[in-house]
Parts: sequence; structure tokens; C-alpha cells
Amino acid sequence: MPFYHAVSDNVPFHLKHLYQPRSSQLFKADLAYFLKYFEPIELKELIRLVKEDKPLKKNYFHLTFDDGLRDFYDVAAPILKEQGIPATIFLNSDFIDNKAIFYRFKASILAEKLVAKGLLDISYSEKEILDELAKENNIDFEEYLKNEKPYLTSPQIEQLIQQGFTVGAHSKNHPLYNQIKLEEQITQTKESIKAVITPYNLEYNVFSFPFTDFGVSHQFFAAIKNEVDLTFGCAGLKDDTIKNHLQRIPMELQQGGKEIIKTEYFYYLLKKIVGKNKIIRP
Ligand SMILES: [Zn+2]
Repeated sequence: MPFYHAVSDNVPFHLKHLYQPRSSQLFKADLAYFLKYFEPIELKELIRLVKEDKPLKKNYFHLTFDDGLRDFYDVAAPILKEQGIPATIFLNSDFIDNKAIFYRFKASILAEKLVAKGLLDISYSEKEILDELAKENNIDFEEYLKNEKPYLTSPQIEQLIQQGFTVGAHSKNHPLYNQIKLEEQITQTKESIKAVITPYNLEYNVFSFPFTDFGVSHQFFAAIKNEVDLTFGCAGLKDDTIKNHLQRIPMELQQGGKEIIKTEYFYYLLKKIVGKNKIIRP
């Protein structure tokens, strides 16, 4: 389960100070590597395999992209379509159609314009500071949204679904779950799932955690059990105590795809020996 946010040859300000997206060339090299050793499967097949819970006959992969970025439509989707590789895009329901922008993207824009990297440490609960700073420095996020259009629009999402891509929810506005209360975690999850499945009449429900699922309790998973087919984390190649919760491998690192996947397998197998390859939850 490799996971990406963006594939970009011209990294925009809102991503520039957060992570290094794959270039289209590097992304194609990742795909060539995956195809050599693994078979691509659709989300519905993945859901079926997890529900079935039998040993797999083949090695499979399913690609996922978090944050619902327009760049998926522009860059990644044409490459994937050409190669016949399915993928799932996880959307923040508050940001679809460029209605609002993730506070970390604000921090990255400000870090670029004000040359102040310290802004990247601002947390979800302090996010209003970013708006104040922007105002003081005449930086207009509304204008940025209008000009740059970082997010997918509803018609683009519709088109992607028609092309065979699948979509899921990624919370409403991307909080760090272990910093918000259980009720807020549940609301963010249920409402974002509803906002994603209703307009597109989806017959499957999937959710990927914003940032990380680290510290998210059994109680939370029990509360959303009937709302989702699968949920996704990004702790790398690991097993999880929650059966329908799959961990994914972050691909936005300096190394090539082959190196990333090999390293993940190495640590997975090493940790397996000492019984530490499974995530234990509070
Ligand atoms: Zn995200």
C-alpha cells in the first residue's frame, strides 16, 4: 500500500515546505518497480480480499493519494490511466472545490513568502495564528485558492470516478487526531465520509487518517465500525490490531521506490522476529 499526496514537476508554494512530491519521472519509475513484483488491484478487490481474510495467492498493490489535490487530476491520473493502474484519492470534505485550505498549506505559503520556517511548527489548535500573520502581511489565502486551485473540484472528482478511480474521506479539515477529543474524531470521520459518498452515490466507504492514526483508540474504531469498509494509516509496512485498518508506505522520501519498499520489508521482517511489527492501540 504505497501512498502519495502529489506528483508534480513544478512544486507549488503550498507543498514546497512540507514534503518533496515525486516528479512525474520518479513516479513512473516507482510504477515500473511496483508492476515488476506486484499486481495492481482496484479498491473493491482490496475490500473483498480484506473481508475474505485468506492468505493471498499473489502480491498485490493498491495506490492511494491523500488530500484530494488538483495535481492528481492534472499529472498522476493521466499516467495511471495510460498504464491501467487503479488508485484511490482521499478527500478533505471542507476543501473540495477550493472552499478552504489546509492550515499546513497556509504555513507552507507563509514560510515561502515570509522566509520563516518556524511557522511550520504551528499546530492545528494554533492555526488561527496563520490567518493573523497572513492578514498582517497582506497575504490573501482566498486569492491563493482562486488563482492556484490546489484542490480537486466536484466535476473533476466526478470525471475521475467515471474513469475508474475510487475516492474516500480524509476528515473534514485535516486535524491531528491524537490532539482532538474522541467525539471530534468521530464527527470529523463520519461527516467527511457522508460528504464524500452522498454526492457520488458510492457503494463503498473508505477513510484515511489525516497526518497519522498514532494514539487513536480502539474506542474510536469501534464507534466507526459500521461506517467504513476499510481505513488507512501511514505507519509503513506494519500489521495492525484493527483488522480492516491497513497501514501504507509513505513514498515522498528522497530514495527511489525500490529502496523505499526494500527498506520497509527489511524492517517489517526484522521486527517480526521480535514481535514488534504490529501496532498496539490504547
Ligand atoms: Zn493528509
